Amino acid sequence: MAGKQNLSFEFFPPRNDEALDELTRTAKDLGQLNPEFFSVTYGAGGSSQNKTLETVLKTREATDLKVAPHLTCVGSNKENMQALLDEYQLHGINHLVCLRGDIPSGLMHPGEFLHASDLVSFIREHSGDHFTIDVASYPEPHPESNSPDEDIKHFINKAKAGANSSITQYFYNVDAYLYFVDNVRSQGLDIPIVPGIMPITNYKGLIRFSASCGAEIPRWIQLRLEAYQHDIKSLKSFGEDVVTSLCQQLIDNEVPGLHFYTMNKTEPTLNICNNLDLVG
Ligand code: FAD
Repeated sequence: MAGKQNLSFEFFPPRNDEALDELTRTAKDLGQLNPEFFSVTYGAGGSSQNKTLETVLKTREATDLKVAPHLTCVGSNKENMQALLDEYQLHGINHLVCLRGDIPSGLMHPGEFLHASDLVSFIREHSGDHFTIDVASYPEPHPESNSPDEDIKHFINKAKAGANSSITQYFYNVDAYLYFVDNVRSQGLDIPIVPGIMPITNYKGLIRFSASCGAEIPRWIQLRLEAYQHDIKSLKSFGEDVVTSLCQQLIDNEVPGLHFYTMNKTEPTLNICNNLDLVG
């Protein structure tokens, strides 16, 4: 319930109309938790900006709650970014999540915006303070960064460019998050750093994706998931326990919110919020 814990829920644009209808039901169900906002990814899995907008508008219509589209440097130039920002503003959207995006293999140059900080600067220049801007951060440093300290420096630069708040890559090591936040605070940056939470619902997909995005699966978790990989009921039950406990530790450490990577599914996120007594 609002007041208990700030929540936000991330979706990706569904592939077809049927899946979009299903997502609308998911949004309504999760909307009962009264999240601060939903967000909708762009580019991941080949989604187009039109699909992101369509999903944003449908989600907002279904729930009457705020929805923030994601934007990426990859696939953008100043001209189409300007047009997109105008379109979002016209639709009454005032919250964005700004990313660099993952560079598709074979593409040498990501475009006119090299880093998320360039995109944030451009938006502030073009749209002033109209948008609240979230950016990504990485408690277990971004896989391409040269060093943890440099990664933090680049994160701080995104805030200096005008980001209001941050959502982290998911992690299963609370200490990594707490150490990262302490480090950032010691350098004078005080924007909210909201932990990104990935519910655990399968084995192979999680291992593959975690390897590519640099999220560590602790050995004790990995071994159990491996053992349960053909027993989906046990796997989901274990995953729910692990992620509930992770969230509880984060709440005990007074995090500014929890951002769930829902993977467009109701149950895993809802069950965790239920366990945490966040359902009103
Ligand atoms: P940046 O902040 O640009 O950082 C990327 C790398 O460059 C880092 O290693 C950083 O240390 C380094 N760097 C930054 N600035 C500089 C500089 N000035 N000079 C040299 N090096 C620099 N991807 C999608 O495609 N679509 C999405 O919708 C999407 N949503 C996401 C939401 C969240 C909350 C998160 C955490 C990630 C999301 N991603 C998404 C993935 C994201 O695009 C990738 O993690 C990407 O590899 C990095 O994006 P970034 O915005 O952190 O990039």
